Amino acid sequence: MSYTMNVLQKAKERNPNEPEFHQAMTEILTTLQPFVDARPEYENAGILERLVEPERILMFRVPWVDDNGKIRVNKGYRVQFNSAIGPYKGGIRFHPSVCLSIIKFLGFEQIFKNSLTGQPIGGGKGGADFDPKGKSDREIMAFCQSFMTELFRHIGSDTDVPAGDIGVGGREVGYMYGQYKRLTNRFEGVFTGKGLTYGGSLARTEATGYGLVYFTDEMLRQHGDSLKDKTAVVSGSGNVAIYATKKAQQLGSKVVALSDSNGYIYDVDGIDLAVVKEIKDVRRGRISEYKNYKPNAVYTEGKGIWNIKCDIALPCATQNELNENDAEALVNNGCIAVCEGANMPSTLEATEVFLRNKILFAPGKAANAGGVATSALEMCQNSMRTSWTFDEVDQKLKGIMVNIYNNVSSAAKEAGHEDNFVVGANIAGFKKIAAAMMAQGAV
Ligand code: GLU
Repeated sequence: MSYTMNVLQKAKERNPNEPEFHQAMTEILTTLQPFVDARPEYENAGILERLVEPERILMFRVPWVDDNGKIRVNKGYRVQFNSAIGPYKGGIRFHPSVCLSIIKFLGFEQIFKNSLTGQPIGGGKGGADFDPKGKSDREIMAFCQSFMTELFRHIGSDTDVPAGDIGVGGREVGYMYGQYKRLTNRFEGVFTGKGLTYGGSLARTEATGYGLVYFTDEMLRQHGDSLKDKTAVVSGSGNVAIYATKKAQQLGSKVVALSDSNGYIYDVDGIDLAVVKEIKDVRRGRISEYKNYKPNAVYTEGKGIWNIKCDIALPCATQNELNENDAEALVNNGCIAVCEGANMPSTLEATEVFLRNKILFAPGKAANAGGVATSALEMCQNSMRTSWTFDEVDQKLKGIMVNIYNNVSSAAKEAGHEDNFVVGANIAGFKKIAAAMMAQGAV
């Protein structure tokens, strides 16, 4: 068996019951196989064995008191996966599905994504199986403070810099940052996605969604096409989905659908973002409420958003939200491009369908890297004790996304898989990490 496949098999055996982590490793290692196996120096340096084993895993109890005075307990995690090219960097996710497998898959993906940004950031991820849905503001604060009361001793602006992810936005980052500052007596850039009054960067909120669309736009442009007059379906209705919709609309696309974990809305007139923002950001409500504002829109409970006919699909909800049948439906409906705003939203089988049918498919680690790239820009501004204008950050973000596209595309071509951006992203991300690890010796 080849070196790469051997490492994959052993890693699966050593980490049983972690299906999402297995899935992420399988995708990355199978596509890296020809590249790595042709270069024995990687095997000699044990690069893959080291890559699949996190440098450090933290798991801790998060006790907090709910509004009825009852003590509740959640599981907290931080996986510090790889620091070869910079401090650990990656978001914190609060969602009931969070478990070690999910944090490890996210952390593993993050290593490659962060490498692709060209910024000096390593890979990490954290979270808790806490469900923010329906919690009062005081309960959210209590939870965030308790979470940070353990995590603070493991992070720092040059060690590990968390940020938001599903269930963690500006409010939660604020509470966690405040508690970090209180415990350490240090005002430092230890978090990104901070509020603008205490060290946050302009355009960070928009960055993942905008970056996704900049990537998509560049990919289409280099294939003689554009987003103009295209119909797009965006899943999710969080931060990524909202700003992907906004930028796609600005570039001339009509976005006809959005979703949440309960169901999806279809608006033939095109999504009205002001309504979505009112529901999600102000009322913290459900997407079904959209039809109360827009009687023309149709709300459907449950799955099915990928059956809507579209040219462009932007999955921006969560992992494994798009399966083989969904992929086939998209292909049959004439979809030309699928770009992932979420982390690993397509199953391995769905990805196969896209590649087989020559759909332009951009994996999340390339297409959604604009968020973390802008986090690196926030770290840079914090270190310089300065702040850039929205336009400055946005221009840098655009440059970074175009660069990622070019690097991924040429790595794919060099590997003999033109337009296979899965292969391209994995090789381009891997090369830099591996070189840094080899230069630093057996650490
Ligand atoms: N959670 C985001 C991601 O998946 C952003 C992480 C960050 O900004 O550190 O990349």
